[in-house]
Amino acid sequence: MIDLADDATAAAILGAVPCYPVPPIGKSPAIDALRAAKAGHGFIIGQDGVMLILRRPWLELDVPVSSPIAAHLPYGRVGPSNANLRCGRIPGGLLRRVLEHFEEALPNEAAAFVIWDEATGAFVLDFPTIDEATPSRLVYRPPALAAGSHVICDIHSHGRSGAFFSPTDNADDAHATKISMVFGRIDDPGGAVRASRLCAGGMFLPMPRSPFSGDQYAE
Ligand SMILES: [Zn+2]
Repeated sequence: MIDLADDATAAAILGAVPCYPVPPIGKSPAIDALRAAKAGHGFIIGQDGVMLILRRPWLELDVPVSSPIAAHLPYGRVGPSNANLRCGRIPGGLLRRVLEHFEEALPNEAAAFVIWDEATGAFVLDFPTIDEATPSRLVYRPPALAAGSHVICDIHSHGRSGAFFSPTDNADDAHATKISMVFGRIDDPGGAVRASRLCAGGMFLPMPRSPFSGDQYAE
């Protein structure tokens, strides 16, 4: 018989990423603590499936990660999915500055990060040091973050090409928790095009609306 107390790694993993059944009343102190955490993630299981509960200082994400379970579960429901920016929406003026930066960089690709300070609530832009930029390739270093600072949004341009996530982008985003955006056709008279997604839990999730205030764009 295996005793978890004898396996420090197994016990640590289950402690760091817990999994709780939802009681018929729909909540429990452990689930409430998971939802209220400043940072961390875990899973809850209800009659309507398995849900990932992920928290960052800037993000609350509740997202189903399974279909409803066919077996009868005498549990409550995990409830609706939710994605909420705890940091609030990003000031729209920062998006305009990013797009100006991308236009100045033409014909090359360029990049920008939106960073949020949890102590002050302030958003700032970081234009990273570029090691190599061409119209189809960009090598840059992510910003060094002070304690309490978080990358909310990782944005890059595809210059005059289309907006899509390349295999390189997918590899870069696989382990991150952030909003990822690509802009293309930067100086197109009809306006730039974009693709955006929320990277979390090893998944790429659609963004139902722009994270920038005053930006009416919807996928
Ligand atoms: Zn790209």
